[in-house]
Amino acid sequence: SSPSSEALIQGLNAPQREAVLTTDGPVLMLAGAGTGKTAALTARLAFLVQNRLAWPSEILCVTFTNRAAREMRERVGQLIGPAVEGMPWLGTFHSIAAKMLRRHAELVGLQSNYTIIDTDDQLRLLKQLIVAEGVDEKRWPARQLAGCIDRWKNRGLNPQDLDAGESEAYANGKGQKFYQLYQDRLKAVNACDFGDLLLHMLNILRTNREVLEQYQSRFKYVMVDEYQDTNQVQYLWLRLLAQGRQNICVVGDDDQSIYSWRGAEVANILRFEKDFPGAKVIRLEQNYRSTPQILAAASGLIDENTQRLGKTLWTERHAGDKVRIIGVWDGPEEARRVGDEIERLEREGAPLDQIAILVRAQYQTREFEDRFISIGMKYRIVGGFRFYERAEIRDALAYLRVISQPADDLAFERIYNTPKRGLGAKALEGIHRLARQQGIPLSRAAIEIADTDELPARARNTFLSLMRDFARWRDLSGTETPANLLRVVMDECGYTDALQAEKTAEAAGRLENLAELARAMEEYETLGDFLEHVSLVMDNENAADEDKVTIMTMHAAKGLEFDNVFLPGWEEGVFPSQRALDEGGLASLEEERRLAYVAITRARRKCTILHAANRRIYGQWTSSIPSRFIAELPEDHVESETTLTGGASLWRAQWSEHADPFADVARNQPSRITTRGPGWQRAAAQEYDPKPKRVAESSRSAASFAAKPRTDISLG
Ligand code: ATP
Ligand code: MG
Repeated sequence: SSPSSEALIQGLNAPQREAVLTTDGPVLMLAGAGTGKTAALTARLAFLVQNRLAWPSEILCVTFTNRAAREMRERVGQLIGPAVEGMPWLGTFHSIAAKMLRRHAELVGLQSNYTIIDTDDQLRLLKQLIVAEGVDEKRWPARQLAGCIDRWKNRGLNPQDLDAGESEAYANGKGQKFYQLYQDRLKAVNACDFGDLLLHMLNILRTNREVLEQYQSRFKYVMVDEYQDTNQVQYLWLRLLAQGRQNICVVGDDDQSIYSWRGAEVANILRFEKDFPGAKVIRLEQNYRSTPQILAAASGLIDENTQRLGKTLWTERHAGDKVRIIGVWDGPEEARRVGDEIERLEREGAPLDQIAILVRAQYQTREFEDRFISIGMKYRIVGGFRFYERAEIRDALAYLRVISQPADDLAFERIYNTPKRGLGAKALEGIHRLARQQGIPLSRAAIEIADTDELPARARNTFLSLMRDFARWRDLSGTETPANLLRVVMDECGYTDALQAEKTAEAAGRLENLAELARAMEEYETLGDFLEHVSLVMDNENAADEDKVTIMTMHAAKGLEFDNVFLPGWEEGVFPSQRALDEGGLASLEEERRLAYVAITRARRKCTILHAANRRIYGQWTSSIPSRFIAELPEDHVESETTLTGGASLWRAQWSEHADPFADVARNQPSRITTRGPGWQRAAAQEYDPKPKRVAESSRSAASFAAKPRTDISLG
């Protein structure tokens, strides 16, 4: 290698160098968090180009997110300069597959200017098909069919590949038929969905020898980061592309596999050595990211998993602080506490962009956003919308705005047909016209139109009945608390039912967000007060490049690192999530534990875990118990504190003495729930929401997990 490539590998340790210098043949780099996998992969990319082993355009390099691709591009740019610009094949699976498919679209019956449809379009199309076939969409929601089709596509299955059993997954065996109809329909409108990008390319590579050979000879090197999270179709696609030259290098960590719900298969790690015989397996064991205390805590936790390959990690860094576990009274105190801690770090000179709050579920961000706004702390939400910008929250707010301010035309336009009431653009035009003529707001015109002969009678009646609902809700707003009003409105307008019918994880998340919105509203006396608060929150946009605290989900934090990490909400039912607990299986619990491992190992210097003793759930205080993951952290590497009076020991004693030590407190809290519709609060509470578990029950289950024998799978 040239002198400059000496410089390139200089900072790397021996196994990392080996990964960089082993340019021929398959390489599997399997190593724990923070051991420099991504760093080695990046150096390898630079090395290949610098030593002219390949042109930038001859390397296929797959990252998990667009953000990761951008970072890698930047880092390689620093190493090799402008040559990095000619790198079209560095990106996510989807971006790369979309680029390829443009060139070969005709082979799967599409034109090269095909459109990629989004979820909304997808659902609309499926719904049309379902209705046309005379299937009851209420019983067999389009969302469910969409979920099945996604899963099949993730597994590389075309309609003709499905057996009768698979087909059973939708409408008593009609799954295959609908999948086929859907694919035909997409083709007819020259479109494909997200899952098609990879599936179509896989089909093309499988059936067109010429195309396959063209890519096999183009890509001298194939590299994949976060390999543990590839799914079947991605794996098959990679395998075909790399099979010619066998120059494939994948890096991953089985302990960080957190996307099985999207079809990712850890088994792909084990298959790799079979499909690419003679693969060199490189293990990195030195962690450069975290202090020994953080690393030991994370390693101790992940040791509780039975399904893992097993590995050793060590670090030369100074011991540092133990992982802190802070018990607080309730959610608001948790947010206050984190805010205080961050202000202290700031005073000590810590940059805000080196501080992250990682949450299990999106809805958890709200409490922090509200707190940070009130103390003027700058923050950004990564990999998701800020709480009040999410679609379902905006929908709910639009309802409230029309109630509070009937002249709010924008809000009215947002929800006049959400959920669907059969009012199209024509109907809106109709009342717009009337509103203009008479100089009245839309919500007034929606009533007046009843006395005209504009629009079909059905549309007029629908408007009228909607406006009757609004009148009733407006009356209620005088007597009900804002939070209760929201619950009633969302139930009665059909929004809740529509989400519930979907039966998807995404819809469940939206229901959780709505529940969280209600929780936020508990703190306000009047609807007006609350809406004013929201408009202040929404106005908190500041310049993008400023120093800010990052708030994001643990899932989105994969591959990233921060000096200081805060992990709130470590309570049974929040994390591990209620869904994982309800599914009950060992597999889902172990995936949650891997997520905990990912979360802790994002921290370079300090990791702080929080849990609250009380959460307000649907307007009622419920006591919650600390996550079993806290109990699983090795004692030597954590320090616990609690702000509850009497300190930790008294607190523990309380737990064992009374089934519900906070029952008295709960009774003294203003519990405002008076109305309980049939709607989302009940069903969501049953299906998706944190339910406090009795202490005894939970400690029993934690013990039974600890007792499970380890079954380490050897990589041989
Ligand atoms: P994850 O599993 O979380 O994706 P990773 O294995 O990809 O982690 P990197 O992100 O590549 O780890 O590296 C972690 C940190 O260690 C980075 O800050 C990186 O710059 C640093 N690092 C990597 N290799 C070395 C090395 N040989 N010497 C010093 N620091 C290193
Ligand atoms: Mg990485």
